[in-house]
Amino acid sequence: MDYKKYIEVVEDFPQEGIRFKDISTLMQQGDVYKKAMDEIVTYAEEKQIDVVVGPEARGFIVGCPVAYAMNVGFVPIRKDGKLPREVVKVDYGKEYGKDVLTIHKDAIKPGQRVLITDDLLATGGTIDATIQLVEKLGGVVVGIAFMIELTYLNGRDKMDGYDIFTLMQY
Ligand code: AMP
Repeated sequence: MDYKKYIEVVEDFPQEGIRFKDISTLMQQGDVYKKAMDEIVTYAEEKQIDVVVGPEARGFIVGCPVAYAMNVGFVPIRKDGKLPREVVKVDYGKEYGKDVLTIHKDAIKPGQRVLITDDLLATGGTIDATIQLVEKLGGVVVGIAFMIELTYLNGRDKMDGYDIFTLMQY
């Protein structure tokens, strides 16, 4: 399917020079959103995953329907201070300054096969931090799925050795 025709590209959002890929227009089309999630489910079934992990907020939009369809759990990755129980943290570099991502310490059991999800792969910083959190808990990242990949930012290079699946590329 040509998913790209359902993505609205917004110039200079949230700041000048960024071409923002808005997935909400794809999500408004129930049949298209379902087909996109079904493709990721098919990918994840081959990987025999035990659990899905996704960073806030748009990692939930991809990860939760996939987890629901596969009858496996979903683990949220959140910014510092948002999760209520004991967490593991990682610092990661953003375009401007640093940020912290966290995961509940008991969210993944050692050896569990993990699928990581997000809406879009840009520089890969967010997913690199997510991989670190999963691996700190002993999880095994067997696949990473995105709706969109910005190939010109070479985010894939940060994830050498990991299997990456994307539905559309810019
Ligand atoms: P990154 O850590 O650079 O791979 O990007 C982190 C997050 O920023 C992604 O999960 C996206 O949600 C968001 N993002 C980055 N660039 C764009 C873009 N051009 N359009 C929409 N979202 C973006």
